[in-house]
Amino acid sequence: MAKNKKVKAVRTKKKRTTKTAKARIVSKTIPEPTPHWNIRVSRFNPQMDFVPRTHEYKAIPHEGESVLDLLTRLKHTQDGSLTFRGSCGYGGCGSCGVTVNGKPVLGCVTQVTDVLDANNNLRVDPLNKENVIKDLVCDESIFFKELLKVKPWLVTRKGEERRNHKMGINDVSAMKDAPQCILCGICNAHTESSKLGELGPAAFVKAYRYTFDSRDGDSSRILALASSLPVHYSLEKANLCPRNIFPGDKISEMRDIQKAKKAKENSRKRSP
Ligand code: SF4
Repeated sequence: MAKNKKVKAVRTKKKRTTKTAKARIVSKTIPEPTPHWNIRVSRFNPQMDFVPRTHEYKAIPHEGESVLDLLTRLKHTQDGSLTFRGSCGYGGCGSCGVTVNGKPVLGCVTQVTDVLDANNNLRVDPLNKENVIKDLVCDESIFFKELLKVKPWLVTRKGEERRNHKMGINDVSAMKDAPQCILCGICNAHTESSKLGELGPAAFVKAYRYTFDSRDGDSSRILALASSLPVHYSLEKANLCPRNIFPGDKISEMRDIQKAKKAKENSRKRSP
């Protein structure tokens, strides 16, 4: 009897050990869930949609990938109809501006991991929701029409049409970094200036660039802008420029120059 009990006990132990071992093997073979990014993209096709809709994609994380690269990957591997702008890929052309998780950014110089939320979610919208042509592509004509208001070209001084204009280091540095503007419209999107009906920060950067250009002969440009100076949007937000041009600071500087010029004019008028 005692011998039988011993055999039974050994068998049960064996069974238990085999079960645990099996369980261990099973637990080892269950694959870990693959981490992925959840990307929600605003889609709009004027031929099919009345209003924009949201499409959700999933993508395996790629280290160091930019938002523009991610959109390109989705287009090439999942959805060829996804439409967006992009060109140079290094922040030089200003064409790939999009809104990511509510923040206007330049897609090619923004790393996905920097803008993902804690749950690996990414939402991509067009820069301006009002003038979408298709998906993430906006109609830029309003932006460029606005620029025309500040005369974004050199106005030659009378009699100097044929003169060679050489610029020294001091002439170039007077314009600061304003000539580096790539007209991406990110500063305008941050301030929502088009909604407020005011001239956007990008137009002021252009005005600043020509005001301080030693070759330009239109001294009235800066005074003419007096009535267009922003009152409804924050200059701090206007400073959010991917090229670190600080458009808000340029607007403040122009405001000060205008004040000084006006004061000078008034005192000249008052003096006999
Ligand atoms: Fe873009 Fe900066 Fe130029 Fe604004 S100032 S349009 S943010 S480069």
